[in-house]
Amino acid sequence: MLERIRIVLIGTSHPGNIGATARAMHNMGLGDLTLVSPRCEPLTSESISRASGADHIVHGARVVETLEEAVADCTLAVGASARSRTLPWPMITPRALGERLPTELAGPESRVALVFGREDSGLSNAELQRCHAHVHIPTNPDFSSLNLAAAVQVLAYECRLAWLAAAGAEAEQDEEPHQPLASHEELEHYFAHLERTLIAIGFHDPALPRQLMARLRRFTLRARPERMELNILRGMLTATEKCAAGRPSADQAVAAPRADQDGDGKA
Ligand code: SAH
Repeated sequence: MLERIRIVLIGTSHPGNIGATARAMHNMGLGDLTLVSPRCEPLTSESISRASGADHIVHGARVVETLEEAVADCTLAVGASARSRTLPWPMITPRALGERLPTELAGPESRVALVFGREDSGLSNAELQRCHAHVHIPTNPDFSSLNLAAAVQVLAYECRLAWLAAAGAEAEQDEEPHQPLASHEELEHYFAHLERTLIAIGFHDPALPRQLMARLRRFTLRARPERMELNILRGMLTATEKCAAGRPSADQAVAAPRADQDGDGKA
């Protein structure tokens, strides 16, 4: 997923920002950088030093003249904007952008571009109108503009979070194949067994039910137990019944605590 996310910088004027962008990208596992008409030499000692070891991304950056060329093969282009513009456009939050990525990048041909503007004037309206949606990083409204590479860092981080969440969900599926949930009938057998057992151990008095079974039903149904989990519970009930058959009931135990107990009736 991360391989098919492209960072596009338009009209960048400071080599240091290109280097810092490369670093931010590499930190988050992104590698595709395209520079549109940079207003500085991209490869300088400053950009290499700010890249701090991610200079392969600066070396590998594609340089093109127009935004159209930069995003020609992209299926989604999102423009990062520090301020709201006159013409309303679909706006998404950085988090929502990340959450959209697994779906947007599901097809093998799909590619997403995140487009960033100039340090002094941002993206032009014409450039913004070439993007499907705009993303604004929520900031102090009185001081809303982030440094270019810092803005790349925030959005690249959201991409990584979304990728980790998607990878984690897949790994979870692999680890734990989905177990069938208990059926209605299995649950009814369980509730009948539970009631029998609770009566046998003197915990439940059917003459004075106090909604006990209803509450236990509600609790159990809320958990949506799997068949296997219900089998474990039924095994515990069977063991409890066997145990209870050979011992005095809990009522009797409360009524006649042994001398060596604290008097709370519990063994
Ligand atoms: N002075 C410019 C902002 C330049 S910052 C202006 O007023 O538009 C350089 C680029 O960083 C912006 O074009 C934008 O792509 C990105 N950026 C900065 N702050 C941002 C924010 N709060 N949300 C989204 N992108 C931001």
